[in-house]
Amino acid sequence: MLREFELDLPGDLQETLTRLPGGTPLAGGTNLLVDLRARREEAKRLVWLGNIEAFRDIKIDKAHVAIGGGTTVGDILRNSAMIDAAPSLVGAARVFGGQMVRNQATVAGNVCSGSPAADTVPPLLSLDAEICLASSTGVRSVPIDSFYSGFKKNQRKQDELITGLSWSVPGPSTANLFYKLARRKGDAITVVGVAVTVTRDGDRCSDARIALGAVAPTVFRAKDAEAMLTDQPLTEELIDEAARAAMAQSNPIDDIRASADYRRHTVHMLTRRLIGQAWRSLAGKEADK
Ligand SMILES: Cc1cc2nc3c(=O)[nH]c(=O)nc-3n(C[C@H](O)[C@H](O)[C@H](O)COP(=O)(O)OP(=O)(O)OC[C@H]3O[C@@H](n4cnc5c(N)ncnc54)[C@H](O)[C@@H]3O)c2cc1C
Repeated sequence: MLREFELDLPGDLQETLTRLPGGTPLAGGTNLLVDLRARREEAKRLVWLGNIEAFRDIKIDKAHVAIGGGTTVGDILRNSAMIDAAPSLVGAARVFGGQMVRNQATVAGNVCSGSPAADTVPPLLSLDAEICLASSTGVRSVPIDSFYSGFKKNQRKQDELITGLSWSVPGPSTANLFYKLARRKGDAITVVGVAVTVTRDGDRCSDARIALGAVAPTVFRAKDAEAMLTDQPLTEELIDEAARAAMAQSNPIDDIRASADYRRHTVHMLTRRLIGQAWRSLAGKEADK
């Protein structure tokens, strides 16, 4: 049973920000209401975000993407420009929950939930996204790479709202991919999630980002592996070595979905597969230049 709570229905962003101190933001409720019912969360006053105007806006130009704090996973799928602006995020949205959950669940709520298995987070890390946080006293921007400080812990202050997320559109020499391994294709918690971004300059990889989900207390970037790939021509041997480094950086647990050993093995396999796929997809484009 849900315990009683007060429900605040502010009419706009400014009013929402003044109501936040001491309250808990309620977006789609697909985490929060479940956690309140299961008594994993306590909240006496919920602040509903559904009345904030233009909170679900998505703006995409040639170089830049900005999504509002109320953008749902379904909104990502319904925007046809997203496939070029964030291929990995679209990949994650396709395998996220079921249709009803996708229509309710917001990207910001997924980011805030802080679960190591949150599916939009590896893509957002691989895109080097920035999080815009606002309170009644000001606005600040935090790179998602430094947002998480531990299991379900992040830099958001209690009176702050995520009002948006933004990132640069991957250019023609960049590939950006995501793969979710789970026990089923839909409505299943991630066993291992991998997102990669690879940029090619001639015969070299000029930039690599590898983000791993569900294999540590937070989603994280495998920076040792990234450094091995940067400024190098990507041979199969080097890709395999980097994938092993990503595996060495992961620190998974045994649970009902998979053993830690299986997760480590899968990080190696999936990282190798995605980096190789990304690199090969760019080879054709280099030849066309
Ligand atoms: C059946 C089911 C299937 C699911 N499948 C998946 C899945 O495949 N992959 C996956 O990753 N997750 C999944 N989830 C979990 C959940 O749907 C997501 O984490 C979702 O994105 C949460 O977003 P929400 O809008 O519902 O957030 P809410 O539940 O409303 O909020 C979650 C947390 O974020 C805070 N919050 C929300 N919005 C903001 C904001 N703008 N600023 C600051 N704080 C905010 C809330 O206070 C709360 O602490 C599933 C859940 C269910 C019930």
